Amino acid sequence: MNSATASYMPRLLPLRLPRVCVAVIGSDASNMIEKAEAVVRDNSFLEFRLDYLSKPELALPKIKRFMETHPGTVAIATCRRVAGGGKFRGSIASQLNILTKAAASGCQLLDMELQTASKCKPPQLLKLRSRAALILSYHDFRATRKLEEILEKMLKYPADFYKVVSTATTLSDNVTMMKFLQTQSDKHALIGLCMGEQGIISRVLSVRAGSVFTFGAVSADLKTAPGQISAGELRSIYRIDQVDAATRVYGVAGDPIEHSLSPVIMNTALRRENVNGVYLPLHAKTLKDLMRCVREIPLHGLSVTMPYKQSILAHLDNTDAHTTKIGACNTVVRGQDGKLYGFNTDAAGVVRPLEQRLSIENAKVLVLGAGGAARAAVFGLKERGAEIWILNRTAVKAQKLARQAKARTIKRADLRKIAFDVIINATSVGMGNTRDCPLKDEEIQARVVFDMVYDPVETHLLQVARAKGIAVIPGVEMFVQQAARQFEIWTGKPAPAGDMLRAVTIALQDRVAQKQQKS
Ligand code: NAP
Repeated sequence: MNSATASYMPRLLPLRLPRVCVAVIGSDASNMIEKAEAVVRDNSFLEFRLDYLSKPELALPKIKRFMETHPGTVAIATCRRVAGGGKFRGSIASQLNILTKAAASGCQLLDMELQTASKCKPPQLLKLRSRAALILSYHDFRATRKLEEILEKMLKYPADFYKVVSTATTLSDNVTMMKFLQTQSDKHALIGLCMGEQGIISRVLSVRAGSVFTFGAVSADLKTAPGQISAGELRSIYRIDQVDAATRVYGVAGDPIEHSLSPVIMNTALRRENVNGVYLPLHAKTLKDLMRCVREIPLHGLSVTMPYKQSILAHLDNTDAHTTKIGACNTVVRGQDGKLYGFNTDAAGVVRPLEQRLSIENAKVLVLGAGGAARAAVFGLKERGAEIWILNRTAVKAQKLARQAKARTIKRADLRKIAFDVIINATSVGMGNTRDCPLKDEEIQARVVFDMVYDPVETHLLQVARAKGIAVIPGVEMFVQQAARQFEIWTGKPAPAGDMLRAVTIALQDRVAQKQQKS
């Protein structure tokens, strides 16, 4: 290849590269190629992580065959040394040798970390670059800092792409990364993202900030970097191929947030209703960090979960009367005036499924619990004319709520004295366990039993009620309805509740299957 071709190819490559590169690892060369075969039909852009293999050279003939049989594939060869954050323990000379052979095997791009480049002689780099496009990479496994300074150091070495990967320890680190990409990507071909659970925003949004592409894992259990998500999820849940400047960003904020099903349900709704939006999990360790992200990304809508439902109220410009009364906000929307408005849709999540089964007016309802969810249920049902009794482990909290909502409290010993139409479990008893139950079997007497707990779908409370012939409402219905109301507030469109219910049911079933596989 002459020098003219060498400079021509890199200029064309960014235009042709897909948005997601799938990082492929394997226990040995054959296993790595098997993994590549499994994903190549849906992903024409792969990275072979040669440094994960104990004998990387053995993979090269197999990669050559693979590239010959999949002519449309673009591949990066990476053999990162330990000093640069990889797993390759060989010398720089053997790393260069492997990369050179990888190019001869058909890999069009070669990744070399800054640490290696700084120890090579210019002709060595030039020679490598004449064989394939060069990605010069830098990884910070601790923080997101001094990105411009790092890039400046990297620019001393001619390359076709500069890859800067940092670690997000706050949500705001994503903002830093995206500002860096926005200001630098018109001057250089950049790849940038943040690793870590808090870096997911950048994994999805960096492509619209100027990153040429982003990385995805083959599957959730085959990650090559902390916080990486699978290429399948990037495409099907986050619709990364459609993310553009006009895409509105929504998210669910809480701590912890890892197991939230909100991204599955909300992205399903956005896709189904053709809304140009993406919904992300936001692991917010502080409210200050979250609010910075809300302002700077900016976020158009936010679902708020524990522990911020109460404390976020002080950061909003306005809330509706209902939310003020409940004293907790689970939904934030950015108005056209840029101001933040708070709502509580948990009440809709209780009222909607119930009114499909009975008339709420004058219905006798027992609410178990006096926390945030119980408050939403009590105020929501009271507004609809229900008669409410509250039973809580900590009696004073029940009394306080009863006073505020003009409801009554009840002692456990008196439960049998009233014929309830509805029993609602608004405690966390039963969560993650099918044996715990907030009531004894003989105390479960009503026309309808509603359990707010949705994981597991079928709690012990629901099992007993069902066995007694009582109509049951599982927590997923509330989950779907409160999410549906959020969707309506954000988009002004009716929510596709049926599709949302299907998506969350499948996700919960998958979770059960994964747990069973592990045990
Ligand atoms: P919260 O504010 O922390 O309140 C927890 C409530 O559960 C309190 O009343 C607490 O009683 C009670 N509780 C906890 N452990 C207990 C135990 N071992 N025995 C008896 N009572 C116990 O939580 P929250 O936000 O209201 O959520 C409550 C439940 O509703 C959670 O399981 C949550 O996942 C679920 N939820 C579901 C949805 C949905 O969409 N399906 C929406 C919101 C909430 P004390 O006052 O005595 O501590």
